[in-house]
Amino acid sequence: MTVPYVEALQEFEPVIGLETHVELGTASKMFCGCDTTFGAAPNTHTCPVCLGLPGALPVVNEAAIASTIRIGLALHCDIATWCRFARKNYFYPDMPKNFQTSQYDEPLCTDGYLDVEVDGETVRIPIERVHLEEDTGKSLHVGGSTGRIHGATHSLVDYNRAGIPLVEIVTKPVTGTKAKPAEVAKAYVTELRDVLRGLGVSDVRMEQGSLRCDVNVSLNKPGAEWGTRSETKNVNSLRSVERAVRSEVERQAARLRAGERIVQETRHFHEDTGLSTSGRSKEEATDYRYFPEPDLVPVAPDAAWVASLKAALPEAPSSRRRRLIEQLALSTLDAEAMTNAGVLDLVLATVDAGAPAAEARNWWLGHLAQSANSRGSEPSELPITPVQVARVVELVADGSLTAGLARQVVDGVLAGEGEPDDVVESRGLAVVSDEGALTTAVDEAIAANSDAADKIRAGKVQAVGALVGAVMKATRGQADASVVRRLLLERLGVRE
Ligand code: ADP
Ligand code: MG
Ligand code: ZN
Repeated sequence: MTVPYVEALQEFEPVIGLETHVELGTASKMFCGCDTTFGAAPNTHTCPVCLGLPGALPVVNEAAIASTIRIGLALHCDIATWCRFARKNYFYPDMPKNFQTSQYDEPLCTDGYLDVEVDGETVRIPIERVHLEEDTGKSLHVGGSTGRIHGATHSLVDYNRAGIPLVEIVTKPVTGTKAKPAEVAKAYVTELRDVLRGLGVSDVRMEQGSLRCDVNVSLNKPGAEWGTRSETKNVNSLRSVERAVRSEVERQAARLRAGERIVQETRHFHEDTGLSTSGRSKEEATDYRYFPEPDLVPVAPDAAWVASLKAALPEAPSSRRRRLIEQLALSTLDAEAMTNAGVLDLVLATVDAGAPAAEARNWWLGHLAQSANSRGSEPSELPITPVQVARVVELVADGSLTAGLARQVVDGVLAGEGEPDDVVESRGLAVVSDEGALTTAVDEAIAANSDAADKIRAGKVQAVGALVGAVMKATRGQADASVVRRLLLERLGVRE
């Protein structure tokens, strides 16, 4: 049983909390020199340190510390002058040391915020902490039909990811989102992703798991204490962040209405159905037996170093956006429509790459938004870059492509066929403007449509449309329609 989202939020107040994990893009792992490149053969990027062999000693990766401090600064956090790593003890097959080196009560960055826009309103998301830890390996369950452990005959483990630096960004409980907790959650993760991308600290690919989200939700009666939260894990796309909050609001409202209580638990989100199922009941922090990591020295970032990192931060996406909106003289309405469609930054980046604003806007709000929608993803998650879109716009502008051909080129890029120019080449999509080649098609069209041809000869020039259409069809859209029209009229001896 569920209560529809809108109705649930008329009856209950939501509180949300987001824990976001970001895999840093450092060249080497957090505590050893192993390579971090994605997709290598299993267990080839390992060494005694990240395999947790006895006697191996970790050393902190300075680049990872710098990235974490830069993230903290971009989120307006205080940076610790002295902090330590901690051991989080638990057993899991993908964690070779049987503890995770993490940070517990001494995180590197604390107490910040990130402002996000939702329907033209700014919502300030308070940040509790930003800390550094290491990623686990990956288990592969073999023999079952689903790839899950249930029904599998055996499991394999790959430690390549074990020890890759992972930053966790935890919000404070976010209240006051009223009717829009799901929209706010999605806007926050989107903005956070853009900030991280701007910092260049990670490739922030949700589908590859370099950005992952746990979504906490609770409901309470207006004015009452906060309710018990559930924590939905494995939320791996922006759309799913929204859906995960939505489905929890609907589920919890039904339980609360029925007088039941919410169990504090982790839930698993299923991308296919958009629903979550109950996982384990939540461990207490004491279950992890945290203690300061004895093999690592404390981290005490020098104030001057932190100041220099701060001075070198890039412009925030929000201020860049405001600046470009002004430069392009976009109307508020237009900018808002683009924000809601999740394409504003993409449009601006496409303009940056040389496309006129109107063209950039049409692509991202039109064909590309549709493509994203039919894939069930966000425009920003499409495998095409603003630079590539700008190139397609350029090819149309210089007459190499018609609008129809341009869409085919874009579809080719989306299908992984390479750069726009490669797709034009491999699919043979360039406009045919060679008049010799067109003349044959023109003559054939006239022969096949003698009625229309006679009308045109008799002065009924509008009838030429049908013949232009026939030529375009014969050339699979690759002819320049205005050239075709001119050739047809010439052939028929009509002067305009
Ligand atoms: P844990 O490790 O147990 O998940 P964390 O402190 O790392 O705990 O994260 C808990 C997240 O849940 C934080 O983002 C926090 O703001 C949020 N949170 C805490 N209480 C509530 C609540 N009542 N409703 C929704 N979210 C909550
Ligand atoms: Mg958690
Ligand atoms: Zn290693």
